[in-house]
Amino acid sequence: MVKILDTRKPTVFKIINFGKNFYESVIPRLDRGIQLVRGRLPLWIPRSSRGMTRLPLWIPRSSRGMTRLPLWIPRSSRGMTVQKKSSPQILFLNYYPSIFLLSLLIACTGQTDAVLPPAAVVASSFKVSRERAEEVLSILTQAPHPFGSARQKEIKDYLVSTVQNLGVEVSVQEFAADTPNRDFETHLKASWTTTRQGFNVTAFLDLIPSPPCIMGIGSHYDTKDMSEFAYLGANDSGSSSILLLELLAFLKANTGLNLSCDVQVIWFDGEEAVLPQWNDGLTKHPSGMQDHTYGSRHFVDTLKQCPHDADLWCVERRGNLVPFASLILLDMVGYKDLKLTPDLYSHAKLKALLVEGAKYLGKSHLIGSLAMPIEDDHIPFKEKGVPVLNIIDFSHLDLWHTPSDLPHTVSMQSLEDAGRLALYVLQKVGSIQKPTAISSKEGS
Ligand SMILES: [Zn+2]
Repeated sequence: MVKILDTRKPTVFKIINFGKNFYESVIPRLDRGIQLVRGRLPLWIPRSSRGMTRLPLWIPRSSRGMTRLPLWIPRSSRGMTVQKKSSPQILFLNYYPSIFLLSLLIACTGQTDAVLPPAAVVASSFKVSRERAEEVLSILTQAPHPFGSARQKEIKDYLVSTVQNLGVEVSVQEFAADTPNRDFETHLKASWTTTRQGFNVTAFLDLIPSPPCIMGIGSHYDTKDMSEFAYLGANDSGSSSILLLELLAFLKANTGLNLSCDVQVIWFDGEEAVLPQWNDGLTKHPSGMQDHTYGSRHFVDTLKQCPHDADLWCVERRGNLVPFASLILLDMVGYKDLKLTPDLYSHAKLKALLVEGAKYLGKSHLIGSLAMPIEDDHIPFKEKGVPVLNIIDFSHLDLWHTPSDLPHTVSMQSLEDAGRLALYVLQKVGSIQKPTAISSKEGS
């Protein structure tokens, strides 16, 4: 059993007198709440103090007294590092034992392929169906399909039917957004903007009954509107859109997954700026409006405060509000010499999982060394406090937004590699929310 010794200080507690199944036990939420869920030690984000704090975690070593749990704690032998406010969404990152095992393994053998954790075994079995991927890519790149265009509406329908054919229920989030007009100089203020219809395509995979949390994995699927040429966007956004479909098919078919949350797949519309440059809407256009990430901003607007915890954001899933644990974003992952850019906006723990997955999968060379802040569809989630990870190659930009971003430049191997990394992270993230804590909107 677990006994809380000091209930006045919710971030300091001791655990005593537990049985051998320590990690099978559950510590009920204490004030600002902590619990352990099956076999894993979580990191939490408490909401009771500012900034970073440490949470000493004690276990009895012998009858003579208490000792700490040094090996299980990744950051510090003196306690568990707990993060607050910048990411109020509770994370459940069970990477502590694998970090330990990995370093032990490397220290002992100098190699990483002797023992693979289950998440890496599953991830390494992911394969892109080349036939399907090439067919989808050919359709996505037949013609430009920018936000609000007739072609984008057709692509939306195509995605919907393709997902349905894989046996997955799919829904469309339709939204309207004001977008800046390019020829504003010849217009009166009333005509500075045009309303465009957008469509986010989204599907819950139903991999876990009554899921305690939802992990989002997304990609934008619009192409940038380039007035001077027909931009087909095979890599941006074809590659990640295809990969998302392949991941959906894999997740649906694979029974060996080790997931703590259910997965929601999201194709975002309207990521690209309507005006030539990303920030022209803010800096050059008289409207002074943000001109990008329309679909992801709309999606984030549909999140609701969780009924059991106002600091968390919930997504509505069949009438129930379920905590949205985090978002993995894929973008520009088809370049043949893939080199993923460490994104400064992505959550440090999620980036650590990406690096860890790459090591296990023998793909460390895919992680670049030049970190930079990358604005993309994950930013609206981050601004809301949802932990995010952007898996993107923003180092190879020679074809980016040029007429040469064509299907033959998309490497199926790169898609497969990026997909494996995403699958690794996906299996290592969860939530410590209890299913019972989630109330039904319809029921109450
Ligand atoms: Zn782009």
